[in-house]
Amino acid sequence: MNHLRSSELFTAAKEIIPGGVNSPVRAFRSVGADPVFISKASGSHIFDADGNDYIDFVGSWGPMILGHCHPDVVAAVKRTAESGCSFGAPTELEITLAQLVIDAVPSIEMVRMVSSGTEATMSAIRLARGYTGRDKIMKFSGCYHGHSDALLVKAGSGAATFGVPDSPGVPQDFAKHTLTANYNSIESVKTLVAENSGQIACIIVEPIAGNMGTVPPQPGFLEGLRKLCSDEGIVLIFDEVMSGFRVALGGAQEVYGVVPDMTTLGKIIGGGLPVGAFGGKKEIMSLLSPSGGVYQAGTLSGNPLAMAAGIATLNLLKQPGFYQKLEEKSAYVANGIAKAAKDAGYPLFSTRVGSMFCAFFTGNQVTDWDSAAGCDTKAFATYFRSMLDEGIYLAPSQFETAFVSIAHTEAELDRTIAAAAKSFRKL
Ligand SMILES: *Cc1c(COP(=O)(O)O)cnc(C)c1O
Repeated sequence: MNHLRSSELFTAAKEIIPGGVNSPVRAFRSVGADPVFISKASGSHIFDADGNDYIDFVGSWGPMILGHCHPDVVAAVKRTAESGCSFGAPTELEITLAQLVIDAVPSIEMVRMVSSGTEATMSAIRLARGYTGRDKIMKFSGCYHGHSDALLVKAGSGAATFGVPDSPGVPQDFAKHTLTANYNSIESVKTLVAENSGQIACIIVEPIAGNMGTVPPQPGFLEGLRKLCSDEGIVLIFDEVMSGFRVALGGAQEVYGVVPDMTTLGKIIGGGLPVGAFGGKKEIMSLLSPSGGVYQAGTLSGNPLAMAAGIATLNLLKQPGFYQKLEEKSAYVANGIAKAAKDAGYPLFSTRVGSMFCAFFTGNQVTDWDSAAGCDTKAFATYFRSMLDEGIYLAPSQFETAFVSIAHTEAELDRTIAAAAKSFRKL
């Protein structure tokens, strides 16, 4: 497989775009390779600038649950564009998508559209602070909630009373209100809540962690958060930017039966166009400007093209049997890869919730960031490069989730499993 054109493009891009990419993980740095530049995609296939054809398990990092270029979505975007790309004024499309979201997601009574997941979480946190009149927030080590200042924080050592920024450019002062607990450890949450009694506005959590690989919540974890937040007057925010519409129409909150106070959405809700959303109880959402005093705005928020793509997508997801079919495809490929590793004598810890799955390169259980961080990332990098060579496009990092779409056929999943078997035998 040659990547000559991609190499040329990458060289040109690096001159004028930092690192050659508009989002860091696209640069393939952690797998010791150069990125392939994409020219087009269709269904479960993605094609690079050299004409190589891959089976895609990235799906634009989550949105493409229908596969690429679903005819209904393409038609909706084209039709809408003919009437104007943006007005900066309300449209009926926004009501239609808001109603679809409210009908689907248990916790959402009112919703506001934004243009990215980052905007959704940042705005949800501002609202939670406005609602409670408290400054501190809590997140979990290894959970990603976009790149806003207060959320670019993981655990410092020990009890992590004060947040430590992950990135230069984030003032210590902006990060100091962010507390960090351990995923799947309700004890670590209880300790921080006790130490900061009456000061915590919200706890934000990925109800299925998908940004440290795929780490499902252990039984009792989400229920424990729900109870603690109710007892302490803390706003519980499920960041379902990834899991929303992915694991079920109602997201992880439907799967686990735990209803947060607020929910953030992104990725699938835009059908591949830039959309995010945050919603929740009316009592909280009504405090948002202009009905309330908590300010939030956006020139392109509720953009007609994005609304049209989202509506077309959600209408297809609502069709009976959609998630069952996706579950069967996902179980087939994830189990197939796990078995291929076992047959090759390679230790692997496999996780999956619906069409989100991950192969952790470790013989140990992974339940939080510390256990995920123990993976053999070098072996993963070798596996990644081998899979790419076999025409399988995976996320270029051990700490990402693989996504199955409804467009993946059994023959393509069999090809994927065979490629994995070959790749494990090389390790
Ligand atoms: C992708 C993601 C975000 C950020 O969304 P962007 O659209 O990239 O800003 C936030 N939270 C979670 C859980 C995500 O997976």
